[in-house]
Amino acid sequence: MKVKIAASVEDCAAWAGSAVVIDVLRSSTTVCALLSAGKKDIVLYGDKNFAAALKRKNPAVEIFSELEFPADVKHKDNSPFTALKSKPSPQAVIVTTAGTPAIMTLKKAKNIFMGGFCNFSALAAHLKKLGGPVLLVPSNIIAHKEHLEDDLCAQSFKRALTGGEPDCAAAIKKIKQSARFKKFLYGGPKTAAQDAEICLAENSLPLIPRIILNGNRGAINACRAEAKQRRAAAHKPRRSEAKTGKKAVILFSGGMDSTVCLYWAQAHGYECHTLTISYGQKHEKEVSVARALAAETAAQTHFIKLSMPWLAGATSLAGGKKIPSHKLMEIGKKLPSTYVPARNLVFVSLAASLADSIGAEAVVLGPNAVDFSGYPDCTPQFYAPLTQALKTGTRLGKNFKLLTPLIKLRKAEIIKLGRALNAPLEKTWSCYNGGKTPCGKCDACKLRAQGFKQAKEK
Ligand code: ZN
Repeated sequence: MKVKIAASVEDCAAWAGSAVVIDVLRSSTTVCALLSAGKKDIVLYGDKNFAAALKRKNPAVEIFSELEFPADVKHKDNSPFTALKSKPSPQAVIVTTAGTPAIMTLKKAKNIFMGGFCNFSALAAHLKKLGGPVLLVPSNIIAHKEHLEDDLCAQSFKRALTGGEPDCAAAIKKIKQSARFKKFLYGGPKTAAQDAEICLAENSLPLIPRIILNGNRGAINACRAEAKQRRAAAHKPRRSEAKTGKKAVILFSGGMDSTVCLYWAQAHGYECHTLTISYGQKHEKEVSVARALAAETAAQTHFIKLSMPWLAGATSLAGGKKIPSHKLMEIGKKLPSTYVPARNLVFVSLAASLADSIGAEAVVLGPNAVDFSGYPDCTPQFYAPLTQALKTGTRLGKNFKLLTPLIKLRKAEIIKLGRALNAPLEKTWSCYNGGKTPCGKCDACKLRAQGFKQAKEK
């Protein structure tokens, strides 16, 4: 099959075969998300002024765009995470910096599709069936040349279409390690972590958006082939995954200890599933940190929210009570008000349920019984019988492992282990208080600071 990667707008304007516009972060993925949410009527513009005019005429229209609009033109962000939550009606309009202008350049193309990692296999299979020639259009030829994810995805598509190994995993890894991606994740949109999770997961939204140009706009429809493929994918047994390697569920809060656990489990060859639990803690800071951190790894993520209204009166981590500040000497001597009743029992039970459901053989968590606040659910005496109970009371069986690799380590040793594993400790969040910077006064801050001092690390 003849496959070419476009290098310029002129390449696009002259092309008469099939074309795939690739804007990995985020418009390709946002369009797939809109189709996946069942949006019935989606149009695109290359220029935001047309979108604004349409919105003024019909206020019900939902614009998805990262561009700036006049104040009277309300719009949603160009976010697949947001798009997934949209309703089938009203009409959606998408206009973006690079993706949609790139589409408008393809005036002569026979078929126009949008592609990314999210619909990689479905689209590649569809293109093969259609036959060539195919022009792959990394939308960074329009703007932001540094968006290397579009180039890397185009190269993967080219390999897939010309009989090679697409190697998406290697491309995604390279993207995640790039400065451009880190800038997106930490300085980008509010939903960057959630969006990244969807955009950089292979086949997360296996739809095939096909675009019909008409004047200054394009209508977007899902190809029919896709519906069939989707049904087939839904029926494929998920068990086959389990045979490829060992899986582990990591209880992941976004704190330093659980981050070290995640990198530890990956280094031990586990395919990792992180589980992050909101249980009514005062601030959601750690949850957003957990999202951003997990998005940097290859882990599959799970987020759940519990309602435990009784905690408000029982722990200072939830409810109105002030989070105490103790002297380092006093920490661990008396059970502090930050103790959350039976938290780790609840968390391990939920992680075990996830592990049992996905066929994971281990649950990994980061309790520590050395430099700690004296919480009874952080001790080895608690985990030994719990492991036994899970082996007998679930389908996990006798090979199941409840792993607590940090339980006997000093905080300084945990930091050294984290460094050795290349865990991004500087991005983790330990403070019991939310806010922009750690408070430095709560027990978690003090133990962490002492650990770094003892480890002679910054
Ligand atoms: Zn603090």
